[in-house]
Amino acid sequence: MSFKSSYLQGVYDSVCKRDPDQPEFLQAVHEVLESLEPVVEKRPDLVAAGVIDRIVEPERMIAFRVSWVDDAGKVQVNRGYRIQFNSAIGPYKGGLRLHPSVNLSVIKFLGFEQVFKNSLTSLPMGGAKGGSDFDPKGKSDMEIMRFCQSFMTELAKHIGPDTDVPAGDIGVGAREIGYLFGQYKRLHNEYTGILTGKGLTYGGSLVRTQATGYGLLYFTEEMMRCMKNDSVKGKTIVVSGSGNVAIYAVEKAMELGGKVVAMSDSNGYVYDPNGINLDVVKEIKEVKRGRIKEYVEQVPGATYTEGCRGIWSIPCDIALPCATQNEINGEEAALLVKNGVKVVAEGANMPSTPEAIAVYQQNKILYGPAKAANAGGVATSGLEMSQNSMRYAWTFEEVDAKLKNIMVNIFHNAYNASKEYGDEGNLVMGANVAGFLKVAEAMKAQGVAY
Ligand code: NDP
Repeated sequence: MSFKSSYLQGVYDSVCKRDPDQPEFLQAVHEVLESLEPVVEKRPDLVAAGVIDRIVEPERMIAFRVSWVDDAGKVQVNRGYRIQFNSAIGPYKGGLRLHPSVNLSVIKFLGFEQVFKNSLTSLPMGGAKGGSDFDPKGKSDMEIMRFCQSFMTELAKHIGPDTDVPAGDIGVGAREIGYLFGQYKRLHNEYTGILTGKGLTYGGSLVRTQATGYGLLYFTEEMMRCMKNDSVKGKTIVVSGSGNVAIYAVEKAMELGGKVVAMSDSNGYVYDPNGINLDVVKEIKEVKRGRIKEYVEQVPGATYTEGCRGIWSIPCDIALPCATQNEINGEEAALLVKNGVKVVAEGANMPSTPEAIAVYQQNKILYGPAKAANAGGVATSGLEMSQNSMRYAWTFEEVDAKLKNIMVNIFHNAYNASKEYGDEGNLVMGANVAGFLKVAEAMKAQGVAY
């Protein structure tokens, strides 16, 4: 038995029985339930209301066929998903992921995490996630457009500005959001904020592009300041990935005086002892949609190594995983610690395995878990929704200041919850408990349909 509480063990066993073939989802549920041990003792009313039994089951799961025609005129078929996990505190909100590894387990884990993350932002947003096993790599613009139009033709039936507002995630950036938005508008004859991450010319918010990466650094800076009287300045930093989150994490880390020496993609990593030249990375990734290995052709002194996981063997003070789930295992975490890492903060969702988290905790590493540390993206999506409703646009500085304020508050809410529930400084527990309590109160207040 892995839980002290037999009640929590029972909840977990029933999730395992229902979905034994969903390892990522079970991993995410296990982590949250572990954090809720002290809540079960302190809040029997929430147990009696069946809140925990209910919160682990999505309110609605939609799976659908996405057929589209490639450039050769051949029909292709993918599977689409939208998991509307919880709407207790607001309309469903969460990104869309396009990646060949997408399946029901991955989308359910992401949707489940999103419930707590959105709650932590303090904005009124429920949790959801969606996507498809479509692989955008190597596809032409027209193929991407046709796929997005077909995907939205079905998704449009299930979303709306007061129902469910999707956004981007892996493989879904400004280009894809544009095609998705265009198709929704064609179908509904309605100009409304049904997606976030939109272009600035048609309702997007300033800072949304930068938000997850910037927010990660605002969180990290506050965590280091409050827990160690330290800062990012002068630190050596390794950032995995080279997509949206990674690029803007690197930008803000540099602005704060850190030196980023490595970045990666799913093929391999570059090491640049002089500090990454972000303009070169942006040109390769954002303009040319190329591979990270092209960096070494342009920057003398940098090296490229095939295989993305080797990035964790580079000595650093701060590690920022910003690529994908389970990208740091126990051994890699131990290597980071051996090489002197002091801080790990997660830009990606669930990038550390449970074994890796145990290594951080045993070694007293400052650890900012994804739910808290990467909530800046969805928080700014919430700000985009507000601006769309008001038919108004805030300046870059206004949105950035709100984002910073939200990230600082998320740190303090998680920290205070860890203290109140008996394990001061354990931000995994603190973030899970703080995120859970708001949703749980709302679920209890709204009752159960008889
Ligand atoms: P992007 O598609 O922009 O970039 C993803 C990056 O991660 C790419 O460098 C990609 O490399 C790499 N990557 C993807 N899958 C794998 C894999 N299986 N193994 C190794 N590397 C991989 O996505 P984002 O930057 O938006 O998302 C990155 C992470 O951040 C995800 O976990 C996402 O859920 C999370 N996140 C994103 C938010 C956002 O606002 N965008 C908000 C909160 C969390 P390659 O090009 O080779 O595929």
